[in-house]
Amino acid sequence: MPHWLDTGIEYLKGVGPQRAEALKKELGIHTLGDLLSHYPFRHEDRSQVYTIASLRGDDVWVQLQGKIRAIGIAGTGQGRRYVAILSDGTAEIELVWFKGIVYVDKMLNPGTTYRVYGKINNFKGKMSIAHPELDALLPNSPSQPLSMVPVYPLTEGMRRKKLENKFLVTAAQNAVTSPLFNIPENLPNAILEKYKFISRRDAIKELHFPQNLSRLEEAKRRLKFEELFYLQLRHLLLKGFRNRNYKGLIFNHVGTHFNDFYNNHLPFELTGAQKRVLKEIRNDFKTGLQCNRLIQGDVGSGKTMVAMLSMLIAIDNGYQACMMAPTEILATQHFVGLQDWVNSLGLRIELLTGSTPKKKRELLLKDLSEGNIHILVGTHALIEQDVQYQKLGLVVIDEQHRFGVAQRAKLWKKGQSLPHILVMTATPIPRTLAMTVYGDLEVSVIDEMPAGRKPIVTVHRQESMRPAIMDFIKNEIAKGRQIYYVFPLIEDSEKLDLNSLMSGYDMVSGYLSPPEFKYSIVHGKLKPAEKDAAMNQFKNHQTDILIATTVIEVGVNVPNASVMVIENAERFGLAQLHQLRGRVGRGNEQSYCILITKPGLSENGYKRIATMVRTNDGFEIAKVDLELRGPGELDGTKQSGVLELKLADIRHDESTLIASRVEAQLWLERDELLQNPDSEPIKSELAKIPNRTVWSKIS
Ligand code: ADP
Ligand code: MG
Repeated sequence: MPHWLDTGIEYLKGVGPQRAEALKKELGIHTLGDLLSHYPFRHEDRSQVYTIASLRGDDVWVQLQGKIRAIGIAGTGQGRRYVAILSDGTAEIELVWFKGIVYVDKMLNPGTTYRVYGKINNFKGKMSIAHPELDALLPNSPSQPLSMVPVYPLTEGMRRKKLENKFLVTAAQNAVTSPLFNIPENLPNAILEKYKFISRRDAIKELHFPQNLSRLEEAKRRLKFEELFYLQLRHLLLKGFRNRNYKGLIFNHVGTHFNDFYNNHLPFELTGAQKRVLKEIRNDFKTGLQCNRLIQGDVGSGKTMVAMLSMLIAIDNGYQACMMAPTEILATQHFVGLQDWVNSLGLRIELLTGSTPKKKRELLLKDLSEGNIHILVGTHALIEQDVQYQKLGLVVIDEQHRFGVAQRAKLWKKGQSLPHILVMTATPIPRTLAMTVYGDLEVSVIDEMPAGRKPIVTVHRQESMRPAIMDFIKNEIAKGRQIYYVFPLIEDSEKLDLNSLMSGYDMVSGYLSPPEFKYSIVHGKLKPAEKDAAMNQFKNHQTDILIATTVIEVGVNVPNASVMVIENAERFGLAQLHQLRGRVGRGNEQSYCILITKPGLSENGYKRIATMVRTNDGFEIAKVDLELRGPGELDGTKQSGVLELKLADIRHDESTLIASRVEAQLWLERDELLQNPDSEPIKSELAKIPNRTVWSKIS
């Protein structure tokens, strides 16, 4: 039998077919259940009527009650407004309308008592309320009960149809006061008791119409937990499903190549963090389950070496490995960086990108399918239809946030059996976000920098300081160092960007003129080969200054470069600034990052710059970024379900998030397939959630 919640919205008192159409079309509300899950985003506190004499402060929402005394139009032109004086016997306050003057004039009735709700504007002690909400208190109709009034998200379309907040309030009220009102519990008893949660039925009711603030908090506490609990549960169920249904390759020995490399060719001692993460990966390889691990490590923390050693384990167990990078520059850099090491072990590594010539490509593919290539490095070209491996055992995805879902899906189909997957990212994600976004992946963190690195000195300078900055650059170049000089993308148009980059070059070379100073210029309009040529010149120290747009953002490694200058730094996001800064500080010399801005930054812009100046810690920066932008804007969150959270905000509900994760884990440990009677509420809740594709299923 269908539940009361599944009743069509048109059958609710006060709705009817026409308004039901609007609710469906505008807000996706088809049933009573939908209506009750259309949560208010705030409440107006109508539990009190203030006296006008008691009003203090500015920007405060208040409810007043009194009579309208005098009315009229004041001002002219832009300042033309309609003014009424509200008097409650203790004092008076101005009510002001700038729009809808004719309508207000018709509606207002001097002498009638009104309940007034609005935001106080306190201008040098003179208080007024602009565009207040008015309710006439008529002597023979009962006044609206004083309470917390929910405010719902609305669309313009609803407003045009004169379906305002009041309509939704009444509808929700009719639903929760219906004799049939009921909402099934979806949390197990044990959890309700442990956390002293109120029932789902009460929580929903209180969320719409709280008796008071503390009841509202109780409702939110429970519903936030519930949201996060189900998000975690879905991640963990997916992981469980994957593990039960797919076998992972077992790499249970560390063999000759790994040992040879580790003992004879390792160019430096691994950091403790690198060793720990490598051990975590080795453990994954032995379990018989597919490894899906996210390796987070700040720029320069040495992720490539961890990838290299992991690939050697795959090879020692008779498999091939591949490593994917988001751009040709990066793929080539990885290839060049790994080549000598790999060759010294008598193994074969090859590079496959979009610009690999057709003939060469054919030969490569043949060798790959016959197992003559041990490691293939490349861009998306690695996952094109015709790329067949003989035995693909490990896929390393570098800087994953540049890879789309569809690309990962293709990769998934490549191997005959599922290869292990390591996803490497230098975009640090705060713990809370990682738990929500990558809830079904294991996460490792390389939280230690190789020894001897000096923290990068970061400064903020205004454009007027350019002469001094140029002198500083000159000095660094005289010491044998190299300089990155970055300009932001100005427009979507590549042509305009190129123009602005060229005028940037003119500006810089006006101070530091060629041929004394040698330049490379890199931008999005260059062909891959031209870009590589320019990058290589800089890498080989044939040039001193690399003028670039953000194409150099990720992964580029030129240890001799010691200064990163960023023009119009206020235009960059924090993650991007941190990535750019990570291009320097890779050698043993002291490195610098100079952030140049115009004067007069926005508050947000100032915070970003100040954060960069204050810290080098990518995780701290990511946390500020999350605060400033919200999870929806961060890389990789789009498909994660974080955005479907209606109440919980992972920025502020960390402890709830952790609790929900722990409880979901404990629950599945006891009842993996949700077969026990006390898992019934969970099972029926999950059955209601439409089957969505979860992106992480495929990586
Ligand atoms: P990222 O984590 O940003 O990908 P890389 O793997 O490119 O960092 O490493 C940055 C630099 O640090 C490289 O030049 C690399 O050879 C070097 N490196 C990596 N690990 C160590 C280590 N344990 N000790 C010294 N240098 C290291
Ligand atoms: Mg890297």
